[in-house]
This record gives sequence, C-alpha cells and structure tokens, in this order.
Amino acid sequence: MSRRRRVYEGKAKVLFEGPEPGTLVQYFKDDATAFNNKKKGTITGKGVLNNRISEYLMTRLGDVGIPTHFVRRLNMREQLIKEVEIIPIEIVVRNVAAGSLSSRFGIAEGTSLPRSIVEYYYKSDELDDPMVIEEHITAFGWATPQELDEILSMSLRVNDFLSGLFFGLGIRLVDIKLEFGRLYEGDEMRIVLADEISPDNCRLWDVKTNEKLDKDRFRRDLDRVEEAYQEVARRLGILPESGPRDLQGPSTIQ
Ligand code: UDP
Repeated sequence: MSRRRRVYEGKAKVLFEGPEPGTLVQYFKDDATAFNNKKKGTITGKGVLNNRISEYLMTRLGDVGIPTHFVRRLNMREQLIKEVEIIPIEIVVRNVAAGSLSSRFGIAEGTSLPRSIVEYYYKSDELDDPMVIEEHITAFGWATPQELDEILSMSLRVNDFLSGLFFGLGIRLVDIKLEFGRLYEGDEMRIVLADEISPDNCRLWDVKTNEKLDKDRFRRDLDRVEEAYQEVARRLGILPESGPRDLQGPSTIQ
C-alpha cells in the first residue's frame, strides 16, 4: 500500500494524498461490507478488479463527454483521481426492481420498471443513509437546485450509456448508485462523477440466466462471489491476463 499520507478510509477504499495538489490516490481494498457494516468480509481480488472495472467505465463515460474525477490507473490497486468536494448524496438509478425497492413496495425482484426511477439517499452511516427528496437536499444546502438538475441529468446519461454498454455484453444493469463531487479549477466549479463504478455499487444480472454478477452474491451468502467480479471484468475484456492468479500479485506493476 502507498506510503503517502492517508486522507480518508472508507469501507472499500482508502484515499491518500496525491503526487500533486488537487489530486488523490484511490486505493481499492478487498474488504466488503453490507447492511451498513453489520456484515463484513473479504472478496479476494475484488480491489484489483474494481480498480480496473472502474477505470474502464469512467474512461468510457469520459469518452462520451461525462466529466469524472478519474485521471489514470497507477497500479493494480491504485488510481489517480482529482480531489473533489463530495456532495453527500447517493443517487440510485433503477431500471429493474430489486433490493430495497422490491422490499419497500412489495414488487417482485426482476420486474421491469416502466421507466428509470431515480432516488436520493443522504450519505450518513450514523443515520443508515436515509432516503431523501429534492426538498431536503436543497433546503439543507447539500446541493443547490441547479446542481441537483445537473446531477439528475448526468445520472440518467450515465445509466443510459452503461445500460447499453452492459447489454452488449449480455448483462442487464438493474440499478446503480452514483456519487458526484464539486471540482474547483481556478474560479470555476463543475460537477463531476466521483467514487467508483463497479459490481460493489451496481446490480448486474446475466441477460439470459438472470445470474447475479455483483455484490448481492456477498450480501445474500451466495457462492462464487469472486467469480462474479471476474466474470464482469472478463466480459469487459479487462481481466488481468494471466487470470485470477494475477490478482494476488504485488501492487506495483508499472
Ligand atoms: N448501493 C450502494 N451503496 C449503498 C446502498 C446501495 O452502492 O450504501 C447500491 C446497491 O449496490 C444497488 C443500488 O445501490 O446497486 C440500490 O440498492 P438498494 O437501495 O436496493 O439497497 P440494498 O438492497 O443494496 O440495501
């Protein structure tokens, strides 16, 4: 792991001071948690795979004009990102009913939604990430109405683009959680996509078999958790070349 100064440690990642001002190094751990930390475990190789998967998806999103915090991958577990001020809202976009939407409204998992549904949650471990509405977000000053408009339209673009990308690989994007941050450049501020995009924060189901290829395998005590992350990377064409054995290797590859 990096010898740089640790800025923040989350459940699945650590942020270190970056090599230049305004940058950070994002380190991906194998640790997995669910149900707000009540279930803890390790998914061997997850950090390596999520680093690559997030690199790939953030790069593709950048290619179609969605600004992100991603700069470049540094090694097997680390990527360089731009330092942003995280907006304390999790944006969940849903295409198919699953998880908390299914349990809250009694809708069978797998039911297609008539249109994509966007939900907001306030990022707070102490409060268990409560669901909030736009009124809360703007009234409590977590984001301005203009910022929220931009976040909403970017979230729908990200969802559309990734739905198409994954569908081409035989994977249905059931839902996805996104985070955004404010990037300050001189006098300018813009909203960019932050955090990560990986099977830790999306639901990904095989189109033909509905097999789960995401963190639900860990949450629900299913088998072949590691294999699910590998399968996503394999379909994206980014599985480390010598196969899963590569995943335990030293963290510096270049
Ligand atoms: N999600 C996440 N972090 C959270 C909560 C949810 O990344 O703290 C993701 C989750 O992986 C899924 C989507 O957001 O892809 C919707 O999750 P849901 O509200 O159904 O909650 P869950 O069933 O995971 O508790």
